Amino acid sequence: MSESTEISGALTSEAIHAALDALLDRRDPDVSGTVLGAGSDDLEGGRRFLDVLVDGGWMVPSWPIRHGGRGAGAAEAARIGAAMGAYDVADLYPYGVGLNLVGPVLLERGSSDQQKRWLRPIADGSEIWCQMFSEPDAGSDLANVGMRAERDGDEWILNGSKVWTSRGTYARWGMCLARTDVSLAKHRGLTMFAVDMTAPGVEIRPLEQINGDRHFTEVFVSDVRVADADRIGDLGAGWGLTVETLAHERATIGGRAFGGGDDEAHGLPSWMEDWRAAGHLVDAVARQRAVRAFILHRVNQLTVARAAAALVEGEAPGPSGSGAKLRSVAAFKARAYLGKDLSGPAGMLSDADGHLEFLTAPSMSIRGGTDEVQRNIVGERILGLPGEPRVDKDAAYADLKKSR
Ligand SMILES: Cc1cc2nc3c(=O)[nH]c(=O)nc-3n(C[C@H](O)[C@H](O)[C@H](O)COP(=O)(O)OP(=O)(O)OC[C@H]3O[C@@H](n4cnc5c(N)ncnc54)[C@H](O)[C@@H]3O)c2cc1C
Repeated sequence: MSESTEISGALTSEAIHAALDALLDRRDPDVSGTVLGAGSDDLEGGRRFLDVLVDGGWMVPSWPIRHGGRGAGAAEAARIGAAMGAYDVADLYPYGVGLNLVGPVLLERGSSDQQKRWLRPIADGSEIWCQMFSEPDAGSDLANVGMRAERDGDEWILNGSKVWTSRGTYARWGMCLARTDVSLAKHRGLTMFAVDMTAPGVEIRPLEQINGDRHFTEVFVSDVRVADADRIGDLGAGWGLTVETLAHERATIGGRAFGGGDDEAHGLPSWMEDWRAAGHLVDAVARQRAVRAFILHRVNQLTVARAAAALVEGEAPGPSGSGAKLRSVAAFKARAYLGKDLSGPAGMLSDADGHLEFLTAPSMSIRGGTDEVQRNIVGERILGLPGEPRVDKDAAYADLKKSR
């Protein structure tokens, strides 16, 4: 059977639901979703879920069939994504970098060998990826990455360290930004590599977060050999790939209406109903704050809907993802902090509903780029405001002052 006829014809929403009903259970609309895998690190649930979906290409419908997708066009993929919201979807946080960041970048920039080797294991959940971008001296100023990659025949030798590497404890591959030429300006001498996290010389040290997550790590890389075949994109093209990857990341975080718990039949999300039922909304100030959280939630949902509509039009993720991320984070934090406040002094002693969100909320303004950096992107790339002064933009990386 040829690839184009194997899964044929664009499906209607009814046909998609009929197919998914045979594979998945329907979701209880009143039950909130989990938050980015916080506190659970459930690898098996996600792997089973992806395994069920991969043969039909349902998880990554726009990917080619041979790589675990179903070759769907943008409109059909959007219908499948929307339909998925009706089902009990596993927490796919461990698989997020592979599915949402590395996969799309490989489809765009990877060699056909790389696509063949890495895409299907991402789609079926058998290989997890992490993102090795940030370093102690390169966070908001990411182009300042100091990890060195030096050529040795058909291989590269990598040395340096990364930090804040989420999923580092269980990832099989790391998408790693490294410096291949110190004589060029900092944005220009960078190249992207896939690092085998089990290779000799890769040392992974866990960092525990306040919400209980233990997959977060710092990664030390000492004389790690990476085949040139595992270089992603051209030599020196690392910054462009980074910007693309981050646009996918921000679109993913911003494209999510966190929390769920929406029973549309009642008009209000169940978390607001719970606050009302508990008597929290009798107080006028509490009611005002609750309505503010609700408005942010709705704005976030509308932004998600707008992003989905743009996808159907074939629009690639770009700077608008930064605005979407800001809205999604604001909605998440407003709800998490107010939920804790409303439970009063008892909230300090309780790890019940909403506690995990409360402990995860501060990180939302940092991961995937801080709120301040997103505002800079919106200001400069969407609103056309003057750029920040960047005095080191054209200087060779080797000539820049370093903290160590
Ligand atoms: C939970 C979590 C998960 C993460 N996962 C990963 C991961 O998997 N992979 C990865 O590579 N990284 C990851 N990160 C790192 C994250 O991307 C960085 O922490 C973030 O980009 C900020 O960098 P920094 O921590 O070095 O802070 P800094 O860049 O030192 O910033 C410190 C403060 O200064 C502000 N600031 C800096 N520059 C400017 C400016 N130009 N204008 C205005 N304000 C500015 C920042 O907004 C911030 O408030 C993660 C972080 C967190 C918290």
